[in-house]
Amino acid sequence: MDSILAESTPTSAIELRHVTKRYGDTVALDDVSMTIEPGEFFCLLGPSGCGKTTTLNLIGGFIPMSSGELRIEGRMVNDLPPHKRNVNTVFQNYALFPHMTVAQNIAFGLRMEKLPAAEITSRTGEYLELVGLAGFDKRLPSEMSGGQQQRVALARALAKRPAVLLLDEPLGALDLKLRKHMQTELSRIHRQVGTTFVFVTHDQEEALSMATRIAIMSGGNVMQTGTPREVYDHPAGRFVANFVGETNFIAGTVTMEDGRRVFAIPGRGRVAAPTGSTDGPATVMVRPEYVRLRPVDEPAADPGISGRIVNVAFLGDHTRLTVSTDAGDIVSVRPHATNVRSTHLEEDLGQEVCVWWPADDAALIAD
Ligand code: ATP
Repeated sequence: MDSILAESTPTSAIELRHVTKRYGDTVALDDVSMTIEPGEFFCLLGPSGCGKTTTLNLIGGFIPMSSGELRIEGRMVNDLPPHKRNVNTVFQNYALFPHMTVAQNIAFGLRMEKLPAAEITSRTGEYLELVGLAGFDKRLPSEMSGGQQQRVALARALAKRPAVLLLDEPLGALDLKLRKHMQTELSRIHRQVGTTFVFVTHDQEEALSMATRIAIMSGGNVMQTGTPREVYDHPAGRFVANFVGETNFIAGTVTMEDGRRVFAIPGRGRVAAPTGSTDGPATVMVRPEYVRLRPVDEPAADPGISGRIVNVAFLGDHTRLTVSTDAGDIVSVRPHATNVRSTHLEEDLGQEVCVWWPADDAALIAD
């Protein structure tokens, strides 16, 4: 007994091992392995055609794998049909039954499970309340807004209390403001129910704002998996750095000068080199919010990279400046908090400036 307990490990909600999916000559998913833990809000993020929906459809059991292993709550489900997987799905188009009321839509799946009538009624009420639609039970889907219909679809999927909820771009049809509101709502609902959510989106901001972890996909592969902060602050390469947030890539050379390692654009300027740099040609990535500007005549240990402000865009809560340099355009953003309004440079389109960043706010990337 003791030895069995000692050997038992917490069971993952979902595990893909070396999963490949081919459609004829197209490899939609190429030897993908990933593990999703119970209670996660896991986002599959990537551009169109990268394999997000394929991954979701494989987990849901809607399409067969070409090879590999899929486990849900520790159980191998390769050959199990969708309804035996303890998984439910919310689709972008809601897929509500138009002739049924809201309550009947939610109750439908519970009836199929042959739950007692009293349980069906109480669960229907409970999940309508969860999604903020108490009192809407007698409406038809056509009498509700897109956002409300999406909530009904969510309540219907959650009412069956699946171990895993799959969401395929569920907010894609909503306008931007409603979409933002539903993101907050989805996070709240996820926290309240504790179910594992697997959410597909091509919108990096949506993934960053809601996910506990994100898998960034490209061409049927997972390029990186990590928390929003990990993939933003430590992108595994150029693709992830570009896809998640905006990034400056600056080519130059790391050399020793006066006993210190610097990142130099030969003859054009230099900044302190990122920690761990080695001598030779290098590309630095630095996020726009870390890029700083100073007047050309301000004394500094490193001269920075000289350039000229060629565009100033006021964007409400921040300003975005584009500086043309010999190392290419470098973008800098600055928030409009009073404590950082220490320079008037943002008003000076055409001004010559020095661009710089603290060494540890940049990273070298492999090309
Ligand atoms: P989107 O964001 O556009 O929905 P996605 O990341 O979800 O894209 P998938 O739908 O998973 O991408 O498609 C992955 C690849 O597999 C694409 O190249 C796509 O053309 C291909 N594919 C998907 N379904 C089929 C199919 N039924 N038959 C043939 N090829 C398919």
